Amino acid sequence: MEQKKKKPISKLNFIPVCEPVIGEKEKKYVLDCLESNWISSQGKYVDEFAKKFAQFCEVKYSVLTTSGTTALHLALMALGIGQGEEVIIPAFTMIATAFAVVYTGAKPVLVDSESETGNIDVNKIEEKITPKTKAIIPVHIYGHPCDMEPIMKLAKKYHLWVIEDAAEAHGARYKGQLCGSFGHISCFSFYANKIITMGEGGAVLTNDEEIFKKLDLLHDLAHSPEKRFSHIEIGYNYRLTNLQAAIGLAQLEKAEKFIEARRKNAFYYNKCLKDIKGLRLPREKEDVKNIYWMYGILVEKDFGMTRDKLMKTLTEKGIGSRAFFTPMHQQPIFQKMGFFKEETYPIAEEWSKKGLYLPSGSGLNKKQITYICKKIKEIAKNE
Ligand SMILES: *Cc1c(COP(=O)(O)O)cnc(C)c1O
Repeated sequence: MEQKKKKPISKLNFIPVCEPVIGEKEKKYVLDCLESNWISSQGKYVDEFAKKFAQFCEVKYSVLTTSGTTALHLALMALGIGQGEEVIIPAFTMIATAFAVVYTGAKPVLVDSESETGNIDVNKIEEKITPKTKAIIPVHIYGHPCDMEPIMKLAKKYHLWVIEDAAEAHGARYKGQLCGSFGHISCFSFYANKIITMGEGGAVLTNDEEIFKKLDLLHDLAHSPEKRFSHIEIGYNYRLTNLQAAIGLAQLEKAEKFIEARRKNAFYYNKCLKDIKGLRLPREKEDVKNIYWMYGILVEKDFGMTRDKLMKTLTEKGIGSRAFFTPMHQQPIFQKMGFFKEETYPIAEEWSKKGLYLPSGSGLNKKQITYICKKIKEIAKNE
């Protein structure tokens, strides 16, 4: 049976929401690992990436981990946080922030978002601090820096640790300073859709030598420094491989280019979408550098169509998109566990209900964005 040939709609046939950009350098470095047999967590790429990524973030020490999730867990364990203690996190975040707290036995305590950026509302943190509170984990949502100054002030006042979840914010800046260099510890992810990737991977950064030693010990099974295979704590195997670090190093060499591409693309999206009624476009607050990890928009009532309907229509037109995170208090597992009962976080809920992100990868080009925006305009008009 002869299949009816579809007319190609050119290369714009499907635009994925976020595609990694992998080049020759990545292949060369990985091949080097394979040819030299350095494929475990020992090898020159692990050492070099650890050093260069810390430099990139302008932080002294780094420990590489298997993911952003394990980076967060390791950070909490290194600070000795656990049972009977509380950690403040935003209600609107990716689940890993909350899971990491739960792994330790501590209780996540939620704070609503500010409406402009979706980031933790710094004016609502203090009311959640109790004698059990040990740490705050601000999350730089979709690449927009949190308001770090008041967070660090609060932490100082109440003697709390600050762990930045910078998984979405490589290279973002707040008042000129890099995200990931404010907290006592910061955590990054190198998952495939992150600014730089190695497929899976993570990093924990700190300027504190003691904390670094603890992170380093715990991430590798807590071997005694004096005697290998004699273990002085409950440790973890959270080690990253040389193969992953090889990809990461090639990516890191292009990090600034990727960031500039995301910013340029975001500004072009803004220009094309600004006149459409009922779309709230991402912001860049004064004195920050948003890296627009994801180009997220909010669909308001006067757009004339729900977020879900818009996403469905975009898919039909070959355009990938994703709904924003579900807030922590609405997660089925936490409801089942009886967490956050009767709690409401109106801004987090609004963001979750109205938000979606459009294709945002660093390899996205102007032609594709033009096409996406043209389709959105058509959809808006027909409604
Ligand atoms: C991606 C992400 C993580 C988790 O990283 P993984 O490497 O996927 O485990 C944690 N927090 C935030 C905010 C993220 O976006």
